[in-house]
Amino acid sequence: MQHDTVYIAATDESSVEHIESLLDSLSYSVSFFKDEQSLVQTSVTNQPRFLLIDHNLEGVRDNGYQVALDYANAHPETIIIALTSGPTDMLNRIRAAKSGASGLLTFEPTASELHSYLDDEFEFLNRQINVLVVDDSPTDGFSACRHLKKQGFNAEHVESPYEVLDACTRFLPDIIVTDFWMPECNGQELVQALRMDRRFSSLPIIYLSSETDKTRQLNAMARGADEFLMKPVDPEYLGRTIENRVQRARKLRLLSERDSMSGLLNHAASLDALRFEMDTCANNLTLAVLDLDHFKQVNDNYGHHVGDQVIRSFSALLKRNLGKNAIAGRHGGEEFIVIFRDTPMEDAYLALDRLRRLFCTLEHRSVEGESFTVSFSAGVVEYDGISQDLIHYADSALYEAKREGRNRVTRTKITIPTASAV
Ligand code: GH3
Ligand code: MG
Ligand code: MG
Repeated sequence: MQHDTVYIAATDESSVEHIESLLDSLSYSVSFFKDEQSLVQTSVTNQPRFLLIDHNLEGVRDNGYQVALDYANAHPETIIIALTSGPTDMLNRIRAAKSGASGLLTFEPTASELHSYLDDEFEFLNRQINVLVVDDSPTDGFSACRHLKKQGFNAEHVESPYEVLDACTRFLPDIIVTDFWMPECNGQELVQALRMDRRFSSLPIIYLSSETDKTRQLNAMARGADEFLMKPVDPEYLGRTIENRVQRARKLRLLSERDSMSGLLNHAASLDALRFEMDTCANNLTLAVLDLDHFKQVNDNYGHHVGDQVIRSFSALLKRNLGKNAIAGRHGGEEFIVIFRDTPMEDAYLALDRLRRLFCTLEHRSVEGESFTVSFSAGVVEYDGISQDLIHYADSALYEAKREGRNRVTRTKITIPTASAV
């Protein structure tokens, strides 16, 4: 399956031009099908992540609902969204649900209505799972890793608890599988030591040990571990347990780190991410602070609800258009930060300026149907490896951009005060 692919099946291509241009602005690759036959044929070899289907699609059965239902059965991984020229009322929603669709849209949705169905977390939730195995026995550690790798996990083994913190920072495990009895400390003490670090306070930890004493097992769990499995364990049982734990932890992490309105990192999580990148970055770390222009006027003219929709659209654009090395967060209200890893300032500037040109032409609509555009300004700075207050520098560049007329991206350099200036 191609994750960035959207298929649209509708009888009349001109009816979906609006949707196509919105998807285009989010860098989705869109293919259009005007009948069931061509849709089904192409889907034999290439299934899209999303299928948007007209409920009046003319097909063999002359019924988009039936086509959607067949499609859902044949390709359960594709997310189906129904398109209707009628109202999105309960009657049409239930008809859509019965046809296997998980969403219902009109042919003229707002950007935010469309974005709300395109879940971007797929990659995060499904990416390969890193398992750190801690075991003082080289044989047991090696064998656990071998079994896990066979099942598609990315596994690494350390023999000493002393190596765990380093391994966590370098290997970024999604879960730790640890022995209980080790020469340096027992598993319970290891868990306690690891939990002293906020970054690892919710990392799932499973014991894998030959300890049979139930009271000891329960005591070990009381220190914040998640499960106690006995050696020898059925490798498949271990694999499924790891998968379940990591899936749950990833979902909880999304809930706790994301701003519920925009789906971006929330204020605290974006500052944590920045701190982490500054602490671990080798070079070329760039930070941008972005702020929507004259946003108060958007609220004043079109209402707070429409203002919220603009924030959602902007956030979707940030998430989708800045590439894998960019981490975007909602710093507050209508202000955002983007952390660019492994990105020299000039590249970050070019990416942001491209986004700026795209966003300032994206049309939003008021409740009355009046269309309008919004722009943003941004300040960008590259980390020098020393200065602590990176946000302050990016903020002053942003202020400069506002002062110079808005709708622009301004770069700045960190200036270290010389001894004479201090
Ligand atoms: P500037 O170009 O100088 O940034 O002007 P501005 O109007 O965008 O800046 P100002 O800081 O004066 O106003 C920001 C406005 O953003 C005021 C506030 O009501 C609005 N805002 C902040 N958060 C939200 C939100 O979550 N939803 C909506 N609808 N509005 C918000
Ligand atoms: Mg503003
Ligand atoms: Mg502001």
